[in-house]
Amino acid sequence: MLLNNINQANGVVSLVGAGPGDPELITRKGWRLILEADVLIYDALVSEELLAEIPPSIPKIYVGKRKGQHSMSQDAICHLLIKHARLGKQVVRLKGGDPLVFGRVTEEMQALQQAGISFTLVPGITAAAGCAASCYFSLTERNIATSVRFITAHTCDDRETSWADLVRRDETLVFYMGLSKAPIISMELQRHGLPPDWPVLLVERGTQKNQRSIRTDLANLTVSIKQNHLEAPTLIFVGQVVATQQMDAIMRAA
Ligand code: SAH
Repeated sequence: MLLNNINQANGVVSLVGAGPGDPELITRKGWRLILEADVLIYDALVSEELLAEIPPSIPKIYVGKRKGQHSMSQDAICHLLIKHARLGKQVVRLKGGDPLVFGRVTEEMQALQQAGISFTLVPGITAAAGCAASCYFSLTERNIATSVRFITAHTCDDRETSWADLVRRDETLVFYMGLSKAPIISMELQRHGLPPDWPVLLVERGTQKNQRSIRTDLANLTVSIKQNHLEAPTLIFVGQVVATQQMDAIMRAA
């Protein structure tokens, strides 16, 4: 977006989706902007595999969480983007998956707009699409799932979550940020009517070389996470579509 009140001496900030991890799953536009960038500002979800392909000559600033430390606040990230743009730099703000899905991109766009900095927004492949493709199942399926819902598990223990509304059997549910909320997800979906053996697929680091996927069901969701020591980033897929996944067969055939 080009704003009317921009100062031409400022650089442009590109808010770019990095995709789910496989370096080939970034858009051509996103990759071009990275190669043209004076500085790259990225967080924890951007995969090592993609970072390794970015020329070392492009300065990279990490703003994610490090072990035992807090991540940089959203305010501080916005200030950093503005600071570099005001130095006349072409800034790429690289975000995991699609910035438009649980990416807090609106806060960054508003801050840039208020500062009179022009920006572009480049979508990416969200984790749900990446993981589904790498596990060979479709998010929607005729007669099985007529809709798909992306849910942040972050707020799952708030009273607002309408569990009764989530237990449609003809829908695929995809929980982002769900690992620590798995006991609530499992309990509430069963309490509101889904059967204990309702299919669940857990996908850790989807599309990356060390991807793991675990097929389980609602009753065994929490135990499967613990037994397999699953870590973030992991997606929780719930619904009949994961029962159709072809990954095992294809892996065996390979
Ligand atoms: N904007 C991102 C989502 C950010 S929320 C996107 O569109 O994908 C962060 C959550 O996304 C993680 O906790 C995890 O649940 C999920 N996630 C992101 N990348 C993932 C990956 N490669 N494999 C599995 N889950 C992933």
